[in-house]
Parts: sequence; structure tokens; C-alpha cells
Amino acid sequence: MPVIDRIADLSEEITAWRHDLHAHPELQYDVHRTAGVVAEKLRAFGCDEVVTGIGRTGVVGVIRGRSHGSNRAIGLRADMDALPIQELRDLPYRSTVPGKMHACGHDGHTAMLLGAAKYLAETRDFDGRAVLIFQPAEEGGGGGEAMVQDGMMERFGVEAVYGLHNIPGQPVGTFAIRPGPIMASTDRFTILIEGRGGHAALPQAAVDTVLVASHIVVALQSIVARNIDPLDSAVVSVCAVEAGEAFNVLPQTAELRGTMRALTPAVRGLMRERLAAIAENVAAAFGARARIDFASGYPATENHPAETDFMADIAAQVVGEEQVERNVAPMMAAEDFSYMLAHRPGAYIFMGNGDSAGLHHPDYDFNDAAIPYGASLWARIIEAGLPPRG
Ligand SMILES: [Zn+2]
Ligand SMILES: [Zn+2]
Repeated sequence: MPVIDRIADLSEEITAWRHDLHAHPELQYDVHRTAGVVAEKLRAFGCDEVVTGIGRTGVVGVIRGRSHGSNRAIGLRADMDALPIQELRDLPYRSTVPGKMHACGHDGHTAMLLGAAKYLAETRDFDGRAVLIFQPAEEGGGGGEAMVQDGMMERFGVEAVYGLHNIPGQPVGTFAIRPGPIMASTDRFTILIEGRGGHAALPQAAVDTVLVASHIVVALQSIVARNIDPLDSAVVSVCAVEAGEAFNVLPQTAELRGTMRALTPAVRGLMRERLAAIAENVAAAFGARARIDFASGYPATENHPAETDFMADIAAQVVGEEQVERNVAPMMAAEDFSYMLAHRPGAYIFMGNGDSAGLHHPDYDFNDAAIPYGASLWARIIEAGLPPRG
């Protein structure tokens, strides 16, 4: 049972929606046009319920199956937001907004879920309800969490939830998934080092924060090398160093900023502990003081085993078993679908985007050839997960 015929027929139309979304990128929660287009289409398809303003600018559409045997519901989620990047490619549907572009393919994710919605509203060959979730602010704004906090799961009776992301470098027409963590947790840290400023020619009278910061940067790399179990995964990246301005002044303060990634809460906690201890104690060893601030980002995206098997089985129905990798290596990027998986069982799958530029690259574009696969996967999940009664 490959790509659904009707969805293949709809592909040209879905592609046109994708290009329209691509030309009008919006950031974070400010996805008013996109959410408006989504809601308007869902209504036009004949969705039984279309609710806007969930998690500020999120949209949910509900489609009832033909047989009303139960009230069960499965949630399918797409993200709608773009990125603050200037697009480089001269596409016919290139971004019309300077400095903003769909560099993560959320235009494709939104269009594919709309395509599945159109098909499901036409056919309704299932029991219960399909809940189509369109979220804002995936790119660091926690829009998925905002929708959950807004009571979305309870309000629509969502029992299981599924998500998807395109992956450059993975062939079109393939899927990859794994049970357990598939994307990492992320935490930001800021280390403010306070020393004693002074004349560069009189270092003995100063506490040099540039030297202290340098030692801290090097020592932080021992967290992954020496504190984390070699069989666990973790990343510590110092991404910003700020100190001083002049050639002949030892600065009073220095600031380090960066990110930490982990796949389990235990590793995440250990990294925080070690980062604080290293920064404070290295600073103290040089007579300086370090103050550490953490900002918690997304938790790890944790696939539930039964739903992972189910999603992989459906993917195999669409593209063939040999095109589905069932134990792919996790990625150390983060994804706020993690909040939905923390509240309901479900799974998140990678879909091939072919030989494109990487995610968040100014040359990136979503691959329209993937549309029939993604939209068919969504439709089949509803039909298989909510089989018609009688
Ligand atoms: Zn992204
Ligand atoms: Zn993304």
C-alpha cells in the first residue's frame, strides 16, 4: 500500500500551498497570516471544528470519522514558524520578507498536514477523531508547550500524538525513527566572571578575567570527556566570549555563553552540576568569582516504544520496509514536540529531504517531492490507528 492515490493527485495543490507559505515566512508566535491560511483551508475542507488562538497563535482542526463508534482521538502536529535568515536562493516562490525565510521546512510540514486534512475530510474512512495541530514558535519559543499549557490535550481528548521533521541528506521517500530519545534536551548557560580590572602592564595588581575565562572554556570540555559515561551522549559548546575592548586594559569582567545538550535527564542534571562547579572553582583558583545562570530549553524528545513501532509500520506501508530505518541515531538538536510527547504517548519521525542544503542554512529549501510521502503517512496513521467500526 504505497502513497495514497488521492494524495498523489493532490500533490500539485499541496505544493502550491507550500510555495505560498514559503513566500510569506513569519517568526515565532507572530504567525498570524500562516495561522489564518491554515484555519481558512481547514474550514473550507469541512473540518468539524477549527479552533484558533490555542497557545497564542496555534490552530487545531478536528475531523470526525464516518463511523461514530467512539470518541477516540489521535493528534498530528505540524510547526508553522520560519527563521530570521536572509534567503540566498532565487526561487520563483522565494521569501518576500527581507531577513526571514522558511529554512527549516516548516512550510512543507504545514502544507503536508493540510493535504492530509483535505484527504481525511473527504474520505473519513476511520472511527473517532483526527486532531490536526498547527503550532507556532517551534524555533526556540516553546509554542508546543504553550499549546499543551493551554489545555489542548484535554480539550480535544488527544490520546496519542505524532510529529515529523524533514532531514536534509536523507533520501526522499525514506523515514527514520527510533524508540527512546531521538532529539536532545537543550540548556543555555551564561557565566559572568568578575575579576579586578587594571593596567595591562601591571598584571600583578589585577585579576585577569580573560585568562580565567580561557581556563574555564578549556576545563568545561572535560565534562563530556571525563564526567559523562562514554556510552551516553552529550554536548557542551561555548558559543560566545565577551571581554575587554582595549589593547592595554585587563577587563574587570568577562562573559561566556553557550549551550548544553543531552539525551537523558540524568546526563542533563550532571552537566549542569559539573558546569557550575568547574566555573566557580576555576574562577576561585585565580582569585575571581563566577556567577552562573541557566535557562532551561526544550526537554529531550522521547519516543514511546509502542507508538514508535506503530509509526514505523505505517511508514513502511507507505514507502516499503527497506525505506524505513527503525533504529536511527538520535540528533543532538532539540525540538519542542518533546512537550507533547511528555504529556501523551506518541512518536516523532525523520523524513528524507534529499540532497538539499542543511536545516537553518540560507540555501535550504523543503523538497516538494517528499510531500506525497509525508501527507500519506499522516492519513494512514489516522486510518490505521482509528479503524472504522462495523
Ligand atoms: Zn529549525
Ligand atoms: Zn524545524
